[in-house]
Amino acid sequence: MARYIFITGGVVSSLGKGLMAASLAALLQARGYKVRIRKFDPYLNVDPGTMSPYQHGEVYVTDDGAETDLDLGHYERFTGVSARQSDNITSGRVYRDIIAKERRGDYLGATVQVIPHVTDAIKEFALADQDDHDFILCEIGGTVGDIESLPFMEAIRQLRNELDPLQTLSVHVTLVPYIAAAGELKTKPTQHSVRELASLGIKPDVLLCRAEHPIPEGERQKIANFCNVRKEAVIPALDAPSIYSVPLQYHEEGLDAEVLRGFGITDAPAPDLSAWSDVTDRYFNPEGEVTIGVVGKYVGLPDAYKSLNEALVHGGLANRTKVNIKWIDAELFEGDESEIIAELEPLHGVLVPGGFGERGSEGKIASVRFARERKVPFFGICLGMQMACIEGARSAGFGDASSTEFGETNEPVVGIITEWMSEEGLEEREEGGDLGGTMRLGAYDASLSANSHVAQIYGGSTEISERHRHRYEVNSKYIDPLEKQGLVFSGMSPDGLLPEIVERPDHPWFVGVQFHPELKSRPFDPHPLFAGFIEAALAHSRLV
Ligand code: GLN
Repeated sequence: MARYIFITGGVVSSLGKGLMAASLAALLQARGYKVRIRKFDPYLNVDPGTMSPYQHGEVYVTDDGAETDLDLGHYERFTGVSARQSDNITSGRVYRDIIAKERRGDYLGATVQVIPHVTDAIKEFALADQDDHDFILCEIGGTVGDIESLPFMEAIRQLRNELDPLQTLSVHVTLVPYIAAAGELKTKPTQHSVRELASLGIKPDVLLCRAEHPIPEGERQKIANFCNVRKEAVIPALDAPSIYSVPLQYHEEGLDAEVLRGFGITDAPAPDLSAWSDVTDRYFNPEGEVTIGVVGKYVGLPDAYKSLNEALVHGGLANRTKVNIKWIDAELFEGDESEIIAELEPLHGVLVPGGFGERGSEGKIASVRFARERKVPFFGICLGMQMACIEGARSAGFGDASSTEFGETNEPVVGIITEWMSEEGLEEREEGGDLGGTMRLGAYDASLSANSHVAQIYGGSTEISERHRHRYEVNSKYIDPLEKQGLVFSGMSPDGLLPEIVERPDHPWFVGVQFHPELKSRPFDPHPLFAGFIEAALAHSRLV
């Protein structure tokens, strides 16, 4: 049976618990263990799919079509283990399932309560699908003391009692702030946080103390004394120069060794950290540098494009190149041509990412035109591919070309489709139906034309699988006129009905994809489309 590591956070939010969980998992994996990471989100949304990126950052989509918390992206990127629907649960989902059961009469007249019904559902989720994993790490969203997280804390407390004492471990992430006026690090917030956790019946085994300044031995001992842990279990977690340094840094501070000790494991193999050393070496010692313009809507909040940001960096790692990202608000380009030239001319590549809604769409279309005409490397992702098709159609003479997502149009180059084939069979959607969970979601296969640019980018393979999250599709009625204009449809769904990839053979690097390749890129295995895009940007940088 798997061992469980429960990760909670205290003092303040945004301490990077997700990154910490991903790093610990990566370290255990480097020692040869099989790991899986799960996220417990205490909010009442059934999933983050309907939340604005400004509320929640990016929605991370799994192969099996779940819309999940962006922390699952960190988990995948750091461990290479593909997340699943069963790796993210929210209070909303727990309550929805319980209420549905209650309405069906499944509780046979019992009073339905938080304890045991909600806590049992959480425990069931934690214990499900263990397969042959050695460690399952469970990260609890929010901060200890939040009202919403109480049932989750209670479920952990119960699990710690029910499972073997050497089968669970509690890691608590806290903050040790530096008070500049006093010139001192303060341990009191950590003490309070641990007391709060203890009042819920959970005694932490390891404390991971985030700090901006080194924590002296004396303060470490003080935290240990007040918080009832060994001094070695108080792990300093100083701000890192890059997220890629975090696993190596935590290893040096003894995190994985202390966790293994907590489980009574004394014969663990030494970790093989060569992949992480290679990634940090490439990251900190680049040989080239490019700047990519990302023309989007949520540019004020980089978390909204978390995976995209990371995938661009991975493309840089593949080419030993530093990638600077210039986030550009697409609305800036509406109406004023000189603005586009001023912003995009100095850049080495233009990327139009995924997005929803009409706002900024004309600016995105204008950026596609700029990149096409000036032969600047262009990468369109999901909405970005749709914009590339609309731009192509307009330049082919369809002046009204648009997407039905933006309102009625007599040239629906992009439109809603109400059915498509998935692995489960025919999927059907109603126009105007619910927004939650009604998109084409998760992994779908695509067939690439042999000899196309993308087939070459994918190393010669013509069958690929990528993750989707969209409601609209490029209308195949326009394939012929668009191909005459020079936009080649080099990737289609296996049944030949849905356009998946477009490219321009008369352009150095112009690719639009209906899916989200950024979701599958990893630092030690950069996605070929991002590696290819950065390589092309590097070549372009030598021309400008
Ligand atoms: N809004 C578009 C659609 O729903 C694109 C979505 C996206 O870019 N993820 O089809």
